[in-house]
Amino acid sequence: MAAKLILSLSICRLIVAVGLILGPAELFRLGFDHPRLSLDESDLESASRDFGLMSRSRPRVVFRPRLAEDVARVVRASFDSPQGGFPVSAMGHAHSINGQAHAANGVVIRMGEGCVGVPAVSEAGRYVDAWGGELWIDVLRRTLEHGLAPKSWTDYLYLSVGGTLSNAGISGQAFNHGPQISNVLELDVVTGKGDVVTCSQEKDSRLFHAVLGGLGQFGIITRARIALEPAPQRVRWIRVLYSNFTSFTGDQEHLISLHGRPATEKFDYVEGFVIVDQGLINNWRSSFFSPLNPVKISSLGASSGDGALYCIEVTMNYNDSAADSIDQKVEDLLKDLNFIPTTVFTTDLPYIDFLDRVHKAELKLRSKNLWEVSHPWLNLFVPRSRIADFDEGVFKGILGNKTSGPILIYPTNRDKWDRESSVVIPDEDVFYLVALLRSALEDGDETQTLDYLTNQNQRILNFCREQGIPVKQYLPHYTTTEEWRDHFGEKWERFRENKMEYDPRHILSTGQRIFETRF
Ligand code: FAD
Repeated sequence: MAAKLILSLSICRLIVAVGLILGPAELFRLGFDHPRLSLDESDLESASRDFGLMSRSRPRVVFRPRLAEDVARVVRASFDSPQGGFPVSAMGHAHSINGQAHAANGVVIRMGEGCVGVPAVSEAGRYVDAWGGELWIDVLRRTLEHGLAPKSWTDYLYLSVGGTLSNAGISGQAFNHGPQISNVLELDVVTGKGDVVTCSQEKDSRLFHAVLGGLGQFGIITRARIALEPAPQRVRWIRVLYSNFTSFTGDQEHLISLHGRPATEKFDYVEGFVIVDQGLINNWRSSFFSPLNPVKISSLGASSGDGALYCIEVTMNYNDSAADSIDQKVEDLLKDLNFIPTTVFTTDLPYIDFLDRVHKAELKLRSKNLWEVSHPWLNLFVPRSRIADFDEGVFKGILGNKTSGPILIYPTNRDKWDRESSVVIPDEDVFYLVALLRSALEDGDETQTLDYLTNQNQRILNFCREQGIPVKQYLPHYTTTEEWRDHFGEKWERFRENKMEYDPRHILSTGQRIFETRF
């Protein structure tokens, strides 16, 4: 009896709350007692947060779609609403930093929690069709069953297909294959008008390009067709150290310039990071050495005169059948580099273990309660011509000797990025990703607090502005239209026109705060 009462009370609550924002006609269209529509407190609470843990924004409803048509019904209900509609945001794995997937007082569509399908692989076509909410780790597991794998990755695989394609999706393979958005063959998209459109380079190409890197502004990706290649069995993973920034970047740029060479004459992945603190080569992002036996910089005789060391990280993929020749191939490539001679560290592991490396670090941090903390991350694209100025002013200047997390730095080739996509990158042939992946600890010292790190991010952005370093934010976060206009530069007009065409009522991804909304 009590259970029945609670059930009917919660159904009433559902009807009232949904009714407040949607109105009776929309309720009918949505099917208000839809089992995948939730007003459950824990669902609302979880959809109010994200990985950044720096902002909260509460939706009225959480929806778990099974099909593109479910997504379309929700969007249409808002688009057609005589009462003015409501915000709708696709939420992948909620791994944004600044509330980009939130929908204040609207509907959060949890793309990863309802769909029952599995990624469908075409061996003949060398592609996989994945649901927009699918995690990349599940795409990988599925494609490996066919001996295939996507070509371009992010460092961490517990991110959704739609979430990374709305940004770019980059990692150490991007110099060779471009970002993930350069490896998409076709999309199914639910536009802000509730239309379900299949688009590609050939068909409805304007929508296709707009959605890739489009920050969720033009449509919700329900299916992505992703290009595949034969999956290697193993990975040789190497790190080398530098105390000289010019040698470090010179070598990184040399390595990415080999992208046109045959597979055996280049590395498959090129990244790097900066070490300004602790003197350890390990960091949470990648467990390279045994955690019980971290390698101390001081033990290597690799001290840095000016306070920073740099590490290039490369990999070469191979199959067991080529195991005999892998040492020689790696050696041939390393011999052209100028790292500190005693600092070559090598490990070898199965392909999936390499790609899934950050998840191991996640589990470790979770076990120490260090994963669910605030993450004031700052990701910047820095043009090659100014990367040395950035090093002087930021790595050797503003950061001091504490970073509160890994700092990645690696270059990529602009010609691997489709100029038509919505993503914004610097206007130089080679540009760097600099990722300051920091965690704030309220009970740490002053330099680890959220306030301190947020201020430091602002100081870095101010420094770039004052020095005229034309950086572009990756995973951008701005709060005014002027800042967004500045971010997009010459792409702004097209971005705005695409918004008018595909989401004229400004329903989608309002958490990005790019366009004014009425809600
Ligand atoms: P969400 O945070 O849920 O959504 C992000 C944005 O995309 C929102 O605006 C949302 O509305 C929109 N969106 C979500 N799904 C869809 C969809 N189906 N259709 C349309 N719009 C949608 N990025 C890299 O490029 N390389 C990395 O190596 C990398 N490593 C990371 C490691 C960690 C530990 C974390 C937390 C993030 C990392 N990222 C990396 C950033 C990541 O790509 C972005 O945060 C991305 O947005 C996360 O995907 P998500 O599925 O959680 O998206």
